[in-house]
Amino acid sequence: MALQEAEEDRQVARRTVRGIIAAATKRQAAASESLANRAQKIAAVAAAHAAAVDSNSCFPSEAIDAARAARLLSAAVPVEFGGEGAKLSEIVDVCYRLGRSCASTAMIYAMHQTKVACVVRHGVASAWHQRMLRRLCNEQILLASSTTEGKAGGDVRNSAAPIERRDQRIALKRQATVISYGEAADGIVTTARRAADAASSDQVLVVFLKDDYTLTKLSGWDAFGMRGTCGEGFALDALGSAEQILPASYDKIHAHTMLPVAHLVWSGVWAGIAAAAVERARAFVRKAHGGSGAMPPGATHLTRASASLRTLRNLINASLQRFEAAASDPAALEAIDFQTAMAMHKVSASELAVATVMSAMQAAGIAGYRNDSEFSIGRQLRDILSSPIMISNDRIMANVAAATLLGSTPTSLRD
Ligand SMILES: Cc1cc2nc3c(=O)[nH]c(=O)nc-3n(C[C@H](O)[C@H](O)[C@H](O)COP(=O)(O)OP(=O)(O)OC[C@H]3O[C@@H](n4cnc5c(N)ncnc54)[C@H](O)[C@@H]3O)c2cc1C
Repeated sequence: MALQEAEEDRQVARRTVRGIIAAATKRQAAASESLANRAQKIAAVAAAHAAAVDSNSCFPSEAIDAARAARLLSAAVPVEFGGEGAKLSEIVDVCYRLGRSCASTAMIYAMHQTKVACVVRHGVASAWHQRMLRRLCNEQILLASSTTEGKAGGDVRNSAAPIERRDQRIALKRQATVISYGEAADGIVTTARRAADAASSDQVLVVFLKDDYTLTKLSGWDAFGMRGTCGEGFALDALGSAEQILPASYDKIHAHTMLPVAHLVWSGVWAGIAAAAVERARAFVRKAHGGSGAMPPGATHLTRASASLRTLRNLINASLQRFEAAASDPAALEAIDFQTAMAMHKVSASELAVATVMSAMQAAGIAGYRNDSEFSIGRQLRDILSSPIMISNDRIMANVAAATLLGSTPTSLRD
């Protein structure tokens, strides 16, 4: 019996060592290939499953598993915690590459990266969050986001449910109207009111890992587009330790990271969707041109689609440069002009992306409108129409209206 137990122990030890070696090998393999190359391979996996993800409204597990295997989830985590320290512009490029293949995969990746950025930029001084980042790298943990609550829609800067403190333990019960991939995620990063007696705008950001919470489904997700994001509604019931609250207050996290990073990564996804639509429209026009030798009548719409895609890409690159230049300067990040620019980046990028996909659809005509055509642009159109409502453009413009009054008109083009 003792011999048998010893043999079993040896087998468990051998399996564990093999697991560690396999993980280390994967890490080395991932490190030897550029982030862009790995993203391109994941985009191919996402493309192969995109139609099924859309028609079945299911989580893109093949693409996200492939992203895990290629260590894409930890790309932006600093090297000292086991990540690659990728810059935001590199992450946005991954979003663009994935967005060309499967909008849901890309948006899931973008939302996860927004949460990673909040923890990396505001949690590295906390031992709990350092440990969490190491785990994220080792286990390729996928983080979801909960900001939308009850009937408050996209009012991110106000929370209803408070953190309840019981000595060093905390509890949160929240009616989360939409949590994309809530069931598939390994953790949820959520806003909350600081305490029961705090104002709704006095918020904190908390990281809960899967063992810390239960989710009770309140609503399903049968949406027009972005169907694989699986944004079901849940009652979130979480228990954790006080250390899980990020040390910085949410107003700082929102201004410095959450708003600019979310808007930039989302716009990368939308540009990818728009690029896929332009690609299909171009293939259609090429085929029509090749057949008759004459430019088809819809070709002018392709010209317009290509031009607005170029404008969108330029806008994203300019905003990324602006963010990366200000990223470690709190005063620059909090400046009214910077905040207005980052808020309006989302409005402009979503409008350009919708216009690009619409022009592409017009260029392809009925071939783009049909679902059963190789030039179909239906999925891209449905997906891109989420962009103006994912935090409503009207709400954003109302929020920056006062700041617009304060500004002055530049005298020089270069100001
Ligand atoms: C694909 C997708 C994924 C999402 N994933 C998540 C997620 O993971 N986690 C999460 O928490 N949330 C998520 N959301 C929800 C999102 O963050 C917003 O909360 C939601 O899109 C806004 O919903 P709403 O239209 O009900 O809200 P509201 O913002 O209340 O807007 C309702 C209507 O009121 C108008 N409106 C609102 N404010 C103003 C104003 N000040 N002036 C004029 N008009 C105004 C709007 O234009 C709109 O017509 C997701 C949304 C989408 C589309």
